[in-house]
Amino acid sequence: MRTLARDLFQKCRDYRDSADAKAQGFYPYFRQIDETHGNYVMCDGERKIMIGSNNYLGLAQDERVIEAACEATRAYGAGCTGSRLLNGTIRLHSQLEEALADFLQREAVLLFSTGFFANQGALASLTEDGDVILCDRENHASIIDGCQFAPAKLVPYRHNSASSLGNRLKRQAPEAGKLVVMDGVFSMSGDIADLPPQLEVAKSYGARVYVDEAHSLGVLGPKGRGVVHHFGLNDDVDIVMGTFSKSLGSMGGFIAGDRQMIEFLKHRARCLIFTASLAPAVAGGVLKALEIMQQEPERMEQLWRNTHKMHEGFKRIGFKIGTTQTPIVPILIGSEAKAFMFTQRLFEEGVFATPAIYPAVRYGEAIVRTSYMATHTDDDLDHVLEIFEKLARELGTFDDPAYVEPG
Ligand code: PMP
Repeated sequence: MRTLARDLFQKCRDYRDSADAKAQGFYPYFRQIDETHGNYVMCDGERKIMIGSNNYLGLAQDERVIEAACEATRAYGAGCTGSRLLNGTIRLHSQLEEALADFLQREAVLLFSTGFFANQGALASLTEDGDVILCDRENHASIIDGCQFAPAKLVPYRHNSASSLGNRLKRQAPEAGKLVVMDGVFSMSGDIADLPPQLEVAKSYGARVYVDEAHSLGVLGPKGRGVVHHFGLNDDVDIVMGTFSKSLGSMGGFIAGDRQMIEFLKHRARCLIFTASLAPAVAGGVLKALEIMQQEPERMEQLWRNTHKMHEGFKRIGFKIGTTQTPIVPILIGSEAKAFMFTQRLFEEGVFATPAIYPAVRYGEAIVRTSYMATHTDDDLDHVLEIFEKLARELGTFDDPAYVEPG
């Protein structure tokens, strides 16, 4: 008698995590937003201050950006209905690539439909069998997944550690192609890549260096050019990746670098060739957002004033915020259950934040991830701090060392 195949759906039927959290009233994900007003959103008729968004410069709701997106839709339609390679390249894509190359002082730029795809496309295409990708342990999931698609061996190194990177590099075959990849600003901890020493080590082994500027564009460097410019190292970093889903208020991603490398990716990156191009509204909106970002440096200045106010405010109350140096401010909690419960209490008090649990952070080191925008007012932020203070009195500040989840 033939043995019946294992039922692939059994694990779905056994899956309980979200149902359990929902039953306890603490489920914090996929919350529905009915209206977005930048600083605050409306959920079920209630106003919530938004401190869970990557809209750092507040450009997602800027009237000029919205108008540019509408104009692009009127000119080109709702979608491009094809890949860049075939029928999906419109003038706005080329204009955006040129504007970004100019802004970042790079020879060329290639747009991808998301930042996730930009990382996947570049990492999977640039390496071959026998090569190695050295990856900061806290790099974003899109980098880790991109490395899984790459024929190269993935070698993780200790977070932000040039000596760990050096030790790993030393053990690789001298002739192997080497790529060192790091986030410019780490998406959960909010710390900045310690780029200069890592770059020096990488170069001494002949490695290429790749920096993901997802959370640093619009946040660091002159006019928001990112971490690489912040350190004045644009000529030494080989590849810069960025996304439009944060400071630029939309969605989509890109790779910037030398012209020949970009030409290669254009014809090799499968997640560029086999997927539809950025919608006209996206390309038009991002072009306008990029222009505003350069013309209105006061946005970034305000973002930093807000950031420092929140760093100080949380420390004063007694919350631990780890090593953050940026508008990403994690509240260190420990257990997932506590992070869910704390997020729920915040929500009930009118604050929209999100918890991050394993695998976004290490197991047992759950956080409530908060992030700030240039458009938050002092009143908004004072109100947020008052609520955190109230919850600290009610629940404590979770400063117990990393809690170990049972089982
Ligand atoms: N890199 C980093 C560091 C990120 O945080 C993210 C998104 N959170 C991405 C890449 C992926 O970007 P996108 O949202 O454009 O897919």
